[in-house]
Amino acid sequence: MQIVLATRNQHKKQELVALLSGLDITIRTLDDFPEAPEVVEDGETCEANAMKKAVEISHFTGLPAVADDTGLEVDALGGRPGAFAARYAGEHATYEDNCRKLLQELSGIPPAQRGARFVTVAAIAFPGGKTMSAKGLLEGAIAESVVGSNGFGYDPVFILPEYNQTLGQLPPEVKNRISHRARAFAQARTLLQQAMAEHSVGA
Ligand code: IMP
Repeated sequence: MQIVLATRNQHKKQELVALLSGLDITIRTLDDFPEAPEVVEDGETCEANAMKKAVEISHFTGLPAVADDTGLEVDALGGRPGAFAARYAGEHATYEDNCRKLLQELSGIPPAQRGARFVTVAAIAFPGGKTMSAKGLLEGAIAESVVGSNGFGYDPVFILPEYNQTLGQLPPEVKNRISHRARAFAQARTLLQQAMAEHSVGA
């Protein structure tokens, strides 16, 4: 079976290829489909955005497509920025802009009330219209300053209480073992294996 990863982000592509390694599938990427449409992520939720990307890319390529979308839910902000994590500080915000805005919005909030979680939804869409999705969560808290230089995005302000460190301090191999994305894709692997088994029975 061939699948296509619905992302142009090279960093994410490498991570997803590693998370799906060992399956009896050929992984194609959007580099193989330069004419593929740019999918507008205009959903209110990570589920909606991930599914929209998977469905549109499956439709375009005629292959099963896998997409993911990640959000950051901060308790003290009523769940914001959620699915709008990438654009939290504005349309063209950098990772640093977003972290700075988050620390500003939470200034004065005590550690016990700084709970937050990353949520990743992995969506799979098949050309026949069948869809499936899996969700991975990583619980933590927002730090009071930027700490560490590993990872990307909100990693340097996201504390893992069990390590007493931010994701920006953790070695990448530890993050990639426990992360929201790793958890979502562990389930997505199982869903793909089941789909492959059904496909071979039906073939
Ligand atoms: P995306 O849906 O995977 O593109 O993620 C949306 C935004 O969430 C990114 O622009 C990052 O700011 C943030 N984000 C996603 N994954 C991570 C992560 O593993 N660590 C820190 N921030 C992340």
